[in-house]
Amino acid sequence: MQFADRLNNVETSAIRELFKLLGKPGIISFAGGFPDPAMFDVEGLKQASSTALNEEAGAALQYGATEGYQPLREQLGSFMAGKGASVAPQELIVTTGSQQALDLIGKTLISSGDKVIVEGPTFLATIQCFRLYGAELISAPIDAQGVRTDELEKLMAEHQPKFVYLIPTFGNPSGVMLSLERRKKVLELAVKYNTLIVEDDPYGDLYFGAPPPPSLLALSDTVPGSRDLLAHCGSLSKVLSPGLRIGWLIAQPELLAKATMCKQFSDAHTSTFAQATAAQYLRGGRMPATLAHVRQVYADRARAMGEALRRELGDAIEFEQPGGGLFFWARLTGAHGGLKDAGEFAKRAIEQGVAFVPGAPFYAANADASTFRLSFATADVAKIEEGVARLGRALAAA
Ligand code: PMP
Repeated sequence: MQFADRLNNVETSAIRELFKLLGKPGIISFAGGFPDPAMFDVEGLKQASSTALNEEAGAALQYGATEGYQPLREQLGSFMAGKGASVAPQELIVTTGSQQALDLIGKTLISSGDKVIVEGPTFLATIQCFRLYGAELISAPIDAQGVRTDELEKLMAEHQPKFVYLIPTFGNPSGVMLSLERRKKVLELAVKYNTLIVEDDPYGDLYFGAPPPPSLLALSDTVPGSRDLLAHCGSLSKVLSPGLRIGWLIAQPELLAKATMCKQFSDAHTSTFAQATAAQYLRGGRMPATLAHVRQVYADRARAMGEALRRELGDAIEFEQPGGGLFFWARLTGAHGGLKDAGEFAKRAIEQGVAFVPGAPFYAANADASTFRLSFATADVAKIEEGVARLGRALAAA
């Protein structure tokens, strides 16, 4: 088969290959990025979907507008307002997961050879999606406060990228939260270099203690000229259900119109039934309790994982305790002549019955092979403790 040239730029993710090994019986997985299905509000979604069918079956089962189902656009506007960003319904389109928002951004903005700055590390599917459109990715380093804005500025000045893609709040895979000061700096850089910033924010609602600083979108009011230079991707996947495939894209009118046009050719519209269900769910007022519940459960798991890692792996690894999201991002230190290669560590961990993903594939460039990502989302506290003990045995076996 002769495939399109654009496929030469991408390969199946190393992570998918690793997932094939997860079928082994008894394995404890810290590998996926899935939320815990035990936390799905099944009762609330049953009610929401039956209300949608009882009250608006005609619309919920019919073709719909590419921009999205109007009642959901309104609910999402209110949801964003609750997070400090004033967004009119016509300023957002509903997408099939935020993954589609990222794809539409790639489709509408990237010409072959265009430069795009991403964080190192960043979300793997974004790397692959932007590469599919021919982007040359430039990797901006991060530290415990998120992307290094001094380095970002140097890269923006040098490369004049088409846009900058950031996951400012509890990023996948890094788990870090961009500080308030740096958020302001990012918005100033957008204006100074007249460059679009894409803010991907599927994890911002999953905080464990104090809420994170406002999103770039919410802060854009404080930096004149920055709002039009922001595209914001949101999602119900991590807080409610990824199977609903409800995401959204907020952007200035011209970009939103082009993205809508491309969406028309791609899937015409996001499932109206899923959109009507999501709209009824949000209207029903269950979201605050759902959020409080998932925050609590993930906070307990994150605490347990942090404690277990310190106890079982000591100075063999270093990491920051995440303040939200679903992930720990850690680095093998090689202390006492120990292992430094996370790929090798992942193989030995599988032999001990625990899985995680090595960090290298999450870098668009300059991969740090000593890094790895652990998700605490799907294992309960007892499984987390057992899994981390197995990690300790895997390292000792090295
Ligand atoms: N962005 C990031 C950073 C993610 O981690 C994910 C899901 N893993 C997505 C976007 C896509 O999520 P969805 O399409 O389910 O909204």
